[in-house]
Amino acid sequence: MESFTDIRSMNMEELTAAVTAAGEKKFRAKQIYGWLHQKLIRTGDEMKNVPASCRQTILKDHPLYGVTEVERYVSKIDGTTKFLFELHDGNIIESVLMKYRHGNSVCISSQAGCRMGCRFCASTLLGLERNLYPSEMLDQIYAIQRATGERVSHIVVMGTGEPFDNFDALCRMIELVSDENGLNISRRNITVSTCGLVPKIYAFADTYPQVTLAISLHAPNDAMRKELMPVANRYSMKELMEAAAYYVEKTGRRITFEYSLVKDVNDRKEHAEMLAALVKGLNCHINLIPVNPVKERDFRQSEQNHIQAFLHILEKHHIQVTVRREMGRDISAACGQLRKGYKERSGNG
Ligand code: SAH
Repeated sequence: MESFTDIRSMNMEELTAAVTAAGEKKFRAKQIYGWLHQKLIRTGDEMKNVPASCRQTILKDHPLYGVTEVERYVSKIDGTTKFLFELHDGNIIESVLMKYRHGNSVCISSQAGCRMGCRFCASTLLGLERNLYPSEMLDQIYAIQRATGERVSHIVVMGTGEPFDNFDALCRMIELVSDENGLNISRRNITVSTCGLVPKIYAFADTYPQVTLAISLHAPNDAMRKELMPVANRYSMKELMEAAAYYVEKTGRRITFEYSLVKDVNDRKEHAEMLAALVKGLNCHINLIPVNPVKERDFRQSEQNHIQAFLHILEKHHIQVTVRREMGRDISAACGQLRKGYKERSGNG
């Protein structure tokens, strides 16, 4: 596992080592950790009970990275709020707050950009800028909690980026956010979505069996999946489904498959039948997502009657399936469109 040196990415062990290496008392580590992960401070000066000299020594070698809000869009329909955040190096990322009856859920980005190349996705159009640090994933949650004053209870890693392409940082983020000395968010309330990096699915099931896994499937066979997702050239459907079965067996938990319905591409009745056969016997839930049109691509959303027919076929096969409720429709801008739009407006697109 990679170790991290920016202060908000460090676990208690690393922080304690850094504090003692700087000649400071061990208990300072605990104080600093509390300021960072429970009081959710933005600047080092806010650590009131830590002497300035101590703060400065530690922060010199271990900078405090976070996110700064640049824009916010609030849905008039359901209160869903999209945030554009700037990172310390000027990169822009987006996060979404969704309010449900069961609590507040934040969708976070794991990378600035993405290199997976899925054909229908806006996040990948400009490629990968860089991985996010654990601190930058965490601070999306912290910043939203600071800004709204509301407790975040659920996290979904479904924003820009492929979380399993930034695996160690993802794991550290989960470790810190579920820490009882941090926000103490239950691992069962965390969902990670992957386009299907097979070896990492095994590693994840072994490391974080309590976390919910979602796999972006989007096709019922290899040929169609290759058309939509370049990652399908690296891992076959067979390998992917074996990994999914391993997760279910290892964790005893249900796995989620995301299936974005694209008009005339993957939304026909025969595709629903193939999909049903593919997941037969596996403890899973299928989340049908009417594809969100991206202006750079010519994919269109399936018609309502096709979505309903697709749904009914899966139901007929006794597969647990739902059609994703569109949140914040009026502020739409799906997966990476907000970030891309901002970059274009500000001349960096
Ligand atoms: N890289 C991860 C998580 C980010 S995307 C993954 O691939 O799972 C979250 C989900 O939104 C994925 O299922 C992704 O395929 C889907 N998605 C991306 N662009 C979309 C669009 N324009 N319409 C509908 N779903 C989209």
